[in-house]
Amino acid sequence: MFFIGRNWSPLVEFLADKGVKLLRREQDWYDIAQVCINGHTSNDTYIAHPIYNKDFCDKCGEKTITACPKCKENIRGDHHSPGVVAIGFGYTPPNYCHKCGNPFPWTSEKLDAAKELAELLDELSDVEKEQLKMSLDELVKDGPRTVVATTRFKGIMSKTGPEMAIGFKDILIDLVSETVKKSIWG
Ligand SMILES: [Zn+2]
Ligand SMILES: [Zn+2]
Repeated sequence: MFFIGRNWSPLVEFLADKGVKLLRREQDWYDIAQVCINGHTSNDTYIAHPIYNKDFCDKCGEKTITACPKCKENIRGDHHSPGVVAIGFGYTPPNYCHKCGNPFPWTSEKLDAAKELAELLDELSDVEKEQLKMSLDELVKDGPRTVVATTRFKGIMSKTGPEMAIGFKDILIDLVSETVKKSIWG
């Protein structure tokens, strides 16, 4: 029989109060992530290790958030499992809110920046610029059209200098999947 010791209760209540969804027997749960609006992770263990919390980003000075601006659902942080300790290791903020599906501010910001960069490519026709911008959305979504978008992106990039592909890499690197990264930038 599963039993929560008496000294667990305050923690469980505290977490529930903070809106943390407790999964499987109260021992396996998602922490909240604190992320700046440019997508720098301030703390992916907002509840468990509040000592690392920051109101403003120490990388870019922007405000940090812990919830989706659209639906107020907490941003999922570190996944706590019994016996597993992994603090701030390899955490990348999600692109889209798991509750309402809207892009997080950093996703919109980076996509907008990449689209602005696309506009600056004089080597491309207006049609190619539009195709490139549409491909950027699909690259980030990691859906069935991502492969098509990857191929189109590479095709269009072959008409510009390699430094442009690097420019897009710098902007999009945290938004795209490993598969896309490998396919485009090697
Ligand atoms: Zn930042
Ligand atoms: Zn949301």
